[in-house]
Amino acid sequence: MTTGPDADRPPVPCRDCKTPLKSAQGQARGRGEQCWREYRRRLRAAQAATAAPAGPVRTSTAGLDGPDLFTTEEITDVE
Ligand SMILES: [Zn+2]
Repeated sequence: MTTGPDADRPPVPCRDCKTPLKSAQGQARGRGEQCWREYRRRLRAAQAATAAPAGPVRTSTAGLDGPDLFTTEEITDVE
């Protein structure tokens, strides 16, 4: 047997561009080098969007409903 190691297995196509992946690393990831970078770039962008939501950031608890640690009047009412 002088055939290559990948001669007996069907070529794994890239999930994005359907190009047959030649490297074992690409086959394990399911994407070629180019598409893998693009995939990770989109993934990080999506994670950044959820980690840091757009809009004003609330820095104080003023305006929140319900009693907080500084409103002790209602708590000392208990006999
Ligand atoms: Zn691809």
